[in-house]
Amino acid sequence: MRKILIVGAGQSGLQLALGLQSQGYEVTLMSNRTADEIRSGRIMSTQCMFHTALQHERDLGINFWESQAPRIEGLGVSVAAPDSTRPIDWVGTLDGYAQSVDQRVKMAGWMETFAQRGGQLVIHGAAVSDLDFFSRTYDLVMVSAGKGELVSMFGRDASRSPYDAPQRALAVAYVHGMGPRPEHPDYDAVRCNLVPGVGELFVMPTLTTTGRADILFWEGIPGGPLDAFQGIKDPAEHLSLTLELMERFTPWEYARATKVELTDGSGTLAGRYAPTVRNPIGRLPGGGLVLGVADVVVANDPITGQGSNSASKCAAAYLSSITEHGDRPFDEAWMQSTFDRYWDTAQHVTKWTNAMLGVPPEHVLNLIGAAGGLQPVADRFANGFNNPADFENFFYDPALTDAYLTEVSSASGASGSSVPE
Ligand SMILES: Cc1cc2nc3c(=O)[nH]c(=O)nc-3n(C[C@H](O)[C@H](O)[C@H](O)COP(=O)(O)OP(=O)(O)OC[C@H]3O[C@@H](n4cnc5c(N)ncnc54)[C@H](O)[C@@H]3O)c2cc1C
Repeated sequence: MRKILIVGAGQSGLQLALGLQSQGYEVTLMSNRTADEIRSGRIMSTQCMFHTALQHERDLGINFWESQAPRIEGLGVSVAAPDSTRPIDWVGTLDGYAQSVDQRVKMAGWMETFAQRGGQLVIHGAAVSDLDFFSRTYDLVMVSAGKGELVSMFGRDASRSPYDAPQRALAVAYVHGMGPRPEHPDYDAVRCNLVPGVGELFVMPTLTTTGRADILFWEGIPGGPLDAFQGIKDPAEHLSLTLELMERFTPWEYARATKVELTDGSGTLAGRYAPTVRNPIGRLPGGGLVLGVADVVVANDPITGQGSNSASKCAAAYLSSITEHGDRPFDEAWMQSTFDRYWDTAQHVTKWTNAMLGVPPEHVLNLIGAAGGLQPVADRFANGFNNPADFENFFYDPALTDAYLTEVSSASGASGSSVPE
């Protein structure tokens, strides 16, 4: 059977490895950390995944935590005013629920499954020189090493990368003890709190190493008041700054966070990166070619919570391309067409995410405002997180937004709220 090397054991690398393994491929997976190191290490993401991405996991039978992880039924948007009130506040209902399973739980578990099923797991931080050697001994080498140093093999695609610097400073804390939104006590939702000119606070439930928890995730415009976490090493200090900023900018979220404590000593994360699309094919010094996967080739800012979703979609698309290719060589043309297939989806994620990082134009503000009074608009916006291609139909072009809002307003007599009162 064909021999495939996958470098990097995150969402995309492990999903691909398990998928190929189940179809009889001889897969080697290279990871720079053991399962135990991942499980006891620092949090890596907020990893909220929507229906389509979760379905790819179900299709492979690797949705091991589905019954334990909270079901996220909705996605809400609140906009803060300068006086810290929230003039806009709505929640849209997701057609299929979303879930967040701490990557420490999922990647460690998947890695152990891969090894138990007979996969060859190599614990080694791969360097370009290693790949040069392996590209001669494997039929295909794929690099799914996230935003690490191996991305240097893949040239930046300037035409698809409008930003050359980070657009947000990221600060995440996993906590126990978060109360529900009082208006929806039994309803789990991702809460997107937009603070114009300052940044965003995302709050969402997750399943972590210690059970159910909630995530507090600040995205701060660089240089602004939320860009204050760099250099903080003490997790307790990180949490108290998170809460202080919540009290100042989003007091309605702070009100339910007064009793929180960190899930564990590694439950905080801070950092930033520039959103970047890269050329999908890496050329090794010895002439071999490697194919980039997920974040290696398309790394978007997490403001829209898409990276893990995209990693799942990328792994599913690559898996189909590999199996459909039979015994033919995995040459440059195949690599390019395999990436292009993924880009069909990823281009919409990239366009929408980059748009959300900018100052929203008036028609987008109108759309977000209108969703407060028109439940179908709130629902459609929420479901765009599952299928960002739909934003083409009503988000970017002011004329399409106006037409859509007019259509929904005239039909609004017929629409009821789908959100629990
Ligand atoms: C703060 C934050 C919040 C986020 N929130 C969300 C969200 O809510 N929803 C969402 O969908 N996405 C979210 N994302 C994005 C998401 O986490 C990533 O896009 C996703 O994990 C990418 O998957 P991947 O497989 O490409 O890479 P990764 O998950 O990064 O996996 C790469 C793996 O490769 C390993 N590795 C690196 N270098 C080497 C090497 N040289 N040799 C061997 N192994 C190596 C790494 O240790 C890692 O295990 C968030 C990201 C951040 C930073």
